[in-house]
Amino acid sequence: MRALAGPAAQLAPAGFLALLLAAPGAHAGDPQVRPGEWNPDKAPPGWVVVQTRNYQVQSEVGEAKGRLLAEHLEGMLDLYRELLPFTKRMPTFVLKIFEDEAGYRAYGGEAVAHYDKAAKELVCWDTGIVLGVRDVPASVRLGPDSGLTPSEAERARLDQLFEAITDDYTMDLARVLSHEGWHQYFHYYTVSWVAMPSWLDEGMGDYFFTAERTEDGQGYHLGALNHGRLRTLRRAFEEGTTVSFARLLDFEQGDYYSNASVYYAQGWSMVHFLMQNEDPALRQLIPKLIADFKRSKNFREATAKAFDRRSLDSLDSEWIAWVLRQEPRDPLRELAREFGERIRAEDLVAPERWKERYTLLLEEERAAAAKATGKPPERAPPGGR
Ligand SMILES: [Zn+2]
Repeated sequence: MRALAGPAAQLAPAGFLALLLAAPGAHAGDPQVRPGEWNPDKAPPGWVVVQTRNYQVQSEVGEAKGRLLAEHLEGMLDLYRELLPFTKRMPTFVLKIFEDEAGYRAYGGEAVAHYDKAAKELVCWDTGIVLGVRDVPASVRLGPDSGLTPSEAERARLDQLFEAITDDYTMDLARVLSHEGWHQYFHYYTVSWVAMPSWLDEGMGDYFFTAERTEDGQGYHLGALNHGRLRTLRRAFEEGTTVSFARLLDFEQGDYYSNASVYYAQGWSMVHFLMQNEDPALRQLIPKLIADFKRSKNFREATAKAFDRRSLDSLDSEWIAWVLRQEPRDPLRELAREFGERIRAEDLVAPERWKERYTLLLEEERAAAAKATGKPPERAPPGGR
């Protein structure tokens, strides 16, 4: 969790969405880029300060994007407050947006974004996607030595898939901030340094991650699936690396980080399952649990009370059944299914992790096809197409 290799924004499928709660290392890089609130008239060269009702945004990516993200966070703040009303005066929240990953890392960041409890600020870098709108080209294409000569129709389909894969497998900065903004709010709300159970803290962050704008653009709605998490979780089911519902409730942070990709996915799914449940008592469970914690500052007790009348074993089976009913969206799998052995991972110019996942998907698709025809899975001859 601490040392992430490669561009973190592209970790989404196999790696966990690297959304850290912990404060990063010492701040370094440009000494003028200081932690905390700034005097708006004295921003370092290349930076602008945008002030909205509750946020001070320090932006290295210009005023327009800074304002867009500030307004997004204001909208999210309304959602957090709807769930957990906060009566005290809100402090000014700081958001720092670096232009690129290098600047962010020099400042001490390790992923795409983090909430720094000590400096009380959200810090991130621009991945190129904000609220589903991407201003960078597709990150995957056919390499020059692929040997594939696609027809015109195939060419068009490939372009479509490469765009969809990039959109799906790159972290949307606004969504990352929906997650991190939750940590910032939650910590003000509970006014506590008592460690919160990771399934709840991270799971709720991921629940907010999928918030989508309403069609009239006036607000947000919750409850969309987190397809990256769902893909990870379904694979973890196959590999038997998940734990029971009850066990995840008991996890310490260290347990959670020990197989972060899988447990983040499981935590998200449990929160989503509860928050979107058709049973109103289950939908109320998390808000009640958090309110109870705010009073008692004792999560173990609050959890025992919240789940009091529930059989955790039956919750476990209901949750698994729900996960298995969902259909994870995966354009990379579509590529494997439609083109099969004609395109292999080494034919693609793409981030290494995407290629690793593509190889897995090719194998899965090959096995599924073999099962359907009743023949044993056949490996393509080396170099053959
Ligand atoms: Zn987080």
